Amino acid sequence: MRILSDSHSHSKFSHDGREKADKLIQKAQELGLSYYAITEHLDRDYKYCKSERFIPQLRLKAYYRALQKLREKYSDSATYVAFGVEAGFAPEAVEWYQKTLPLYDFDVVINSIHTMDGGDAYFGKIFEGKTQDEVYNRYLDLLIESVNVPYDYDIIAHIGYVTRYVNFENYTLCQDKYMDKIDTLLKEIIARDKTIEINTHIRHAEMKYLPEKGILQRYYELGGRNVTFSSDAHLSESIGERYDMVSTLAKGIGFTHWTVYKKRVAHKIEIE
Ligand SMILES: [Zn+2]
Ligand SMILES: [Zn+2]
Repeated sequence: MRILSDSHSHSKFSHDGREKADKLIQKAQELGLSYYAITEHLDRDYKYCKSERFIPQLRLKAYYRALQKLREKYSDSATYVAFGVEAGFAPEAVEWYQKTLPLYDFDVVINSIHTMDGGDAYFGKIFEGKTQDEVYNRYLDLLIESVNVPYDYDIIAHIGYVTRYVNFENYTLCQDKYMDKIDTLLKEIIARDKTIEINTHIRHAEMKYLPEKGILQRYYELGGRNVTFSSDAHLSESIGERYDMVSTLAKGIGFTHWTVYKKRVAHKIEIE
């Protein structure tokens, strides 16, 4: 199965990226993608965390200068190379994003949640002493808040991020007791015509992608049609990872197209 598109990846400009953008782009070309996006971490939310505030922030101006050169270099490429950012939401960071994001003509802006109340879920500390209901309800409330931010964005990243890092017996977010909030979230996404990514990097040991299938099915039932494939690759070898699995899953639910963004405009690619 040919990999058609990949909407989310990180080069060395991101604090956890390892490879140069050129290397990633060349791999995307080799794979024959028609659309490939580099979306560097813009972790303004880290500024409000106890330990994560020491993690280096994206050098936005340097990244922007580099992407202008790369756009020129790959302008004739059969692979459309998109550049953007993954903006980490925190209520305290909203004003800064609102002021900063419009200064750059990105192709795509991803809206994601990594931190909750002063810490990245990745490190697990934020869960100490909390029940599953407390963690999941808080996470869903923050997701709903993030969907309704006043700055412009295109894609909602890895819904269910926290489930990857918890130790609860039943880690799934797609449970009856959370469905009211999940419905509110999905309805807001649909009303705002945003896109949900299916992310194959942020995944649970037993589940190879996020969000969970039940959430994707519910989104479809409610009328949501905007989905995109995201490897969230931090290495060139991970571009397009699990694409076959995810496109079969998406088609099985009823989705017919991937939504990708060029210069902030949505384009549809038919899933083969
Ligand atoms: Zn992320
Ligand atoms: Zn990412």
